[in-house]
Amino acid sequence: MNGSPVQSFGFNVFNDRAMKERLPRHIYQQLQEAVSGGEKMDFHVAEIVATAMKEWAVSKGASHYTHWFHPRTDLTAEKHMAFLTVDEYGLPLDSFEGADLIQSEPDASSLPSGGMRSTFEARGYTAWDPTSPAFVIPAENGGTLCIPSVFISNDGTPLDMKTPLLRALSKIEEVTMRILKMFGNRNVKWIRATMGAEQEFFLIDEDMAAKRPDIEYCGRTIIGAQTPKGQQMEDHYLGSIPPRVLAFMQEVDQRMCSLGVVLKTRHNEAAPCQFEYAPQFTEANLAVDQNQILMEQMRQIASKHGFRLLLHEKPFALINGSGKHLNCSMMDSEGRNLLKPSSSQRKNIQFLTLVSGLLLGISRYGGLLRASIATPGNMRRLGGNEAPPSIMSVFLGDVLTHILDRVEEGLPEDLPSKAFIDLGLNRLPDVLKDNTDRNRTAPIAFTGNKFEFRAPGASQSPAGPMTMMLSLWAWGLEKMANMIDARIGETDVADAALDAIRTAALESRNIRFEGNCYSPEWHEEARRRNLPIAHTTSEALALFLVPEHRELLSGLGIFSEREILGYYETRLEQYIKTIEIEMNVMEGMVRNGILPAITKQVAAEGTALGFVPEGIRNGSPSFWQEHIGELYRVKEGLLETVGKLASLHESLEFLDLEKRSETLTEKGLPILDSIRKMCDAAETLVSDEFWPYPRYSDMLLSR
Ligand code: ADP
Ligand code: MG
Repeated sequence: MNGSPVQSFGFNVFNDRAMKERLPRHIYQQLQEAVSGGEKMDFHVAEIVATAMKEWAVSKGASHYTHWFHPRTDLTAEKHMAFLTVDEYGLPLDSFEGADLIQSEPDASSLPSGGMRSTFEARGYTAWDPTSPAFVIPAENGGTLCIPSVFISNDGTPLDMKTPLLRALSKIEEVTMRILKMFGNRNVKWIRATMGAEQEFFLIDEDMAAKRPDIEYCGRTIIGAQTPKGQQMEDHYLGSIPPRVLAFMQEVDQRMCSLGVVLKTRHNEAAPCQFEYAPQFTEANLAVDQNQILMEQMRQIASKHGFRLLLHEKPFALINGSGKHLNCSMMDSEGRNLLKPSSSQRKNIQFLTLVSGLLLGISRYGGLLRASIATPGNMRRLGGNEAPPSIMSVFLGDVLTHILDRVEEGLPEDLPSKAFIDLGLNRLPDVLKDNTDRNRTAPIAFTGNKFEFRAPGASQSPAGPMTMMLSLWAWGLEKMANMIDARIGETDVADAALDAIRTAALESRNIRFEGNCYSPEWHEEARRRNLPIAHTTSEALALFLVPEHRELLSGLGIFSEREILGYYETRLEQYIKTIEIEMNVMEGMVRNGILPAITKQVAAEGTALGFVPEGIRNGSPSFWQEHIGELYRVKEGLLETVGKLASLHESLEFLDLEKRSETLTEKGLPILDSIRKMCDAAETLVSDEFWPYPRYSDMLLSR
């Protein structure tokens, strides 16, 4: 594939253009109807689509196909099948039928299900999601056709991240449609939630990463003394991109372009070796898939360029971590952004109604947002000085806050049109455009024509947080619609909506905060407001189990009660396993690397000290001996604490999930922290010659 980005855009995607070219017209139409949710797909249609898709994929060099799906690991899963088949006469041919396209049965019994599957059946199946186009990932010796799919157990219980997302998407579409109709939008055919995920990441030298067991197994450094120069000079952010990184980025840009993703921005982030990509936003289901593709392609391309990609939320202590900012809004079939204020007053009341729905949802169910971003990696990032705290609040900016305050005070009853002018609703777009000052400390912010959810972690699948956001938004919108409905007839829709907005403004006071969310005052204020404050991952995950949260999700049909329990368990298991792996790695690094290094240093110092003539040493303990003493004390301390770590580990074996997670949080994490402190002290005392691992100062100079 050559040529300009415009020519190569979507080259590897079985997109609308490819389908139009390769499918008979009536088949193409039937497929489109199935995609837009109306019709069930005829098997005959699937047969023809499969043949066309296979021929297209083979023409792009694909030798295999796979159903590509999102298990609950935050990664994607694939099991490749060869097109090549030998028929009953021994003749080779490329085979891919309708049934292969629609459904597949990977033996996925080792993927996490939170106990969902064992109670029923061990098997699950994947089913084609035709709303996200198939694509070919090229490779030197033959590419793979990837078919975006859902993953479901045999009794129909979803085992993936995509199914709940699709359910939330259709729910929010349904209720927003209802609101738009109330406001007299007759021509709107569909509504899509939109999403654009800003992705932060680190790149360090592959050679160095390979020498650090913590990076190899945990994706982050679990020990490491500070560098002489961190990010205090603030000279990395938006600085010129180092040439090797730029070469990597150019290849990622090209690859993603061929996969139908436009990466709009690329730049240096705040920490050394940290960078960011932001794609052009698109429909949310597709945007989630695209983010997963981006993460995987970056990983592969980084290694070609001699880099290791780190998506961990906090790869280096005391240096900014990486997040994933989810920008979201809704778009209608006329291509309008529904969160974009307009010059029409009526449209602006509609806009405020949609915003109010989200405020209501967060104010009541913000705990679910907190739960959705609870991961072992994000735990180390949230509440640092680069990331929002773990309290969910919304920043609206001066203009919207002013409007909501005025609506709250009450409107002049007889003069609704004057009220619009008083509120500034007739010039909202101009005001909002000028009002670009941003509060970067809020987990959720309105940024002019979209909301930005800044708390998700860099390595997370956006599907989880998006599902929760859309669910509570849909709930809030339904409330708004009901309030408006109840008054229509006695007054007009704008008036009824303003009343509903007033209720939402009042009810959402608890989660609206315009100040500095990093400040201790906000934490106190949040406590006074009774907002859910979950510091640890286990506390945050437990928010999934709050009865009213479960009722919301099951009421909307996103997760059944049983499914939410399974989801919760999967996340909790992920947390437990991560900490346990970190404990194993810590023990190994200390016993096999750091303790022997200290021994070598002590031996070298002791031997050298022996060469110093008696007369000079004059009997009293010298600084030098004190230095050896320090090494000795660190070594003793490490031996003792690593012993504690090992016995804690043994004691976990018979605990149930919750007890295990609690023990790890309360006992395991503090032990890991104290071991780290000792290792970092040792690192400053041991020479380069003996220190077994690349240091922060080496790794963070990767260019
Ligand atoms: P910022 O001011 O935060 O840099 P940008 O306009 O560069 O904002 O957008 C950041 C991300 O938000 C991009 O991925 C962009 O595509 C996405 N975005 C912009 N508008 C929308 C929208 N209406 N819906 C969803 N995402 C959007
Ligand atoms: Mg942004």
